[in-house]
Amino acid sequence: MKKIVLLIFFISLSCQQAKTVKESQAPTFGIVIHGGAGTILRANMTSETEAAYRKFLGEAIQVGHSILKKGGTSQEAVEKTIHVMENSPLFNAGKGAVLTADETIELDASFMHGATLDAGAISGVKTIKHPISAAIKVMEDSPHVMLSGAGADAFAASQGLEIVEPEYFFTERRINSLKRVKEAEAKEKKISSAEKEFVSQQRYGTVGCVALDLKGNLAAGTSTGGMTNKKWNRIGDAPIIGAGTYANNATCAISATGWGEFFIRSVVAHDISALMEYKGLSIKEAAHTVIHDKVGGLGGDGGVVGIDHRGNVAMEMNTPGMYRAHMDAEGNLNVKIYKDE
Ligand code: ASP
Repeated sequence: MKKIVLLIFFISLSCQQAKTVKESQAPTFGIVIHGGAGTILRANMTSETEAAYRKFLGEAIQVGHSILKKGGTSQEAVEKTIHVMENSPLFNAGKGAVLTADETIELDASFMHGATLDAGAISGVKTIKHPISAAIKVMEDSPHVMLSGAGADAFAASQGLEIVEPEYFFTERRINSLKRVKEAEAKEKKISSAEKEFVSQQRYGTVGCVALDLKGNLAAGTSTGGMTNKKWNRIGDAPIIGAGTYANNATCAISATGWGEFFIRSVVAHDISALMEYKGLSIKEAAHTVIHDKVGGLGGDGGVVGIDHRGNVAMEMNTPGMYRAHMDAEGNLNVKIYKDE
């Protein structure tokens, strides 16, 4: 009798274990976006502006979510979601890109595929409506990983991507921002704390998207105009694979935003993946370590969004805010702006 009871106990235990394993391996999907990190404070935000950002983030992520839900690829979800953000003047990417010191536009973008570790990037382009698509074209239709300047513009045109006049990108908001940043710069050390805050706010606003599709493939993309008043063809982290963007099916997909120089020096996106791969950290632990200990330790600031191969996500920053949203397979939407939300 005792033996029979024990047998039943072990059979039910192993059934339960099988169920748990099956549940944890059930295909899932998810998507996370950011619209830049920085000195985003409640005190500087009207309720209308805040509502506009929240609404927009919710609408943009829905585009990628619908693709994933129908069984589409993480690559398509990332590209189409970033298109929506590149079309908006709210963010520092595509249409809303910031201006250089020469009052021109220089756009950077990159994309990486987690299954193949294929990657593509462009930097310093001036005429491509959707830089993220140019990065993907470099990955798919050239033997290279990164193209820059006029050559990258010409490549995108030869691939049939949409080309626009430079004027397309000039928005009043960015023209005014450049003027104010230049005025503050001219004052050098006599700059007031309000001006200092304004200048630091103009640094950011990049957009990024990471996604996990039903096949278990991860993808990451980042697109930006860089930093207001940038000079000498300065290039930030956004188009640098391993710094601003990284994806690996074995670990995670990451897109970064922040003070690019520090993100390049900390090799942020790859470092998060490496901490997961070599030290077994969770995506949250790895993102926290890199943003706070490494970037923060050097004196830099910004944030990342990430998703791992199980759909766990990280939205980590050491700035007062980061425009961000996450949508899981069940369609639960989580939109946040401030760090303390
Ligand atoms: N990381 C970008 C750069 O340094 C700026 C940003 O994230 O907004 O160009």
